[in-house]
Amino acid sequence: MDDFKSTALVLFSGGQDSATCLAWALDKYSRVETIGFSYGQRHSIELECRNQFVSKLRKSFPGWSKKLGDDHMMDLSLLGQISETALTQEKAIQMQSSGLPNTFVPGRNLLFLTFAATVAYRRNLKVIVGGMCETDYSGYPDCRDDTIKALQVAISLGLDTRIVLETPLMWIDKAATWAMAENLGGRVLLDLIQEDTHTCYLGDRSQRHEWGYGCGSCPACDLRKIGFENFARGQKP
Ligand code: ZN
Repeated sequence: MDDFKSTALVLFSGGQDSATCLAWALDKYSRVETIGFSYGQRHSIELECRNQFVSKLRKSFPGWSKKLGDDHMMDLSLLGQISETALTQEKAIQMQSSGLPNTFVPGRNLLFLTFAATVAYRRNLKVIVGGMCETDYSGYPDCRDDTIKALQVAISLGLDTRIVLETPLMWIDKAATWAMAENLGGRVLLDLIQEDTHTCYLGDRSQRHEWGYGCGSCPACDLRKIGFENFARGQKP
């Protein structure tokens, strides 16, 4: 029987943050499953990267592969229907009067975590791991630590079982996220994240930079690029 808190469900989108979270969970827990959501994203590239990343991860890390169980893909196309945002429609990324970029899908993480909890409950997984981050986030209120903690209480009460929401990236910046990946899986994992994860809002995989693929100028590419440059600078003796 699994010990309490030894089993985890990782929100895995195919991006850098969730790929790092997946490695973090595989290092820490004895059984790990993954969940992904399709909701009418403008590009399915991130979701394609998902499969590629996992299959290469399995080959490179046989110990982790043994712990890695089922993947659960959920169709949340309803979310795309109810949200008019730059991620789901062909609109330029810009700041709105609310102070949030229009890439924000209102309540997205609340919904993702709640759906993840229903899967975790059925699969007897005690921990949900997500890549939410307050440090260099784009102001998404559902990435905040307080939001996640409040949701943990609501979910645990609502399901009448204790579910722990873990967010290993909450208080670190992108440079530290790269460093975390290196600590967990060395150069091999860094290479995998550079080559087979996707973060660019524009879905551009035509240009390969030292930090991975992307347009190099959207807000997501900016964060990834600056983080990698700071990480690489810290590596030099
Ligand atoms: Zn980009």
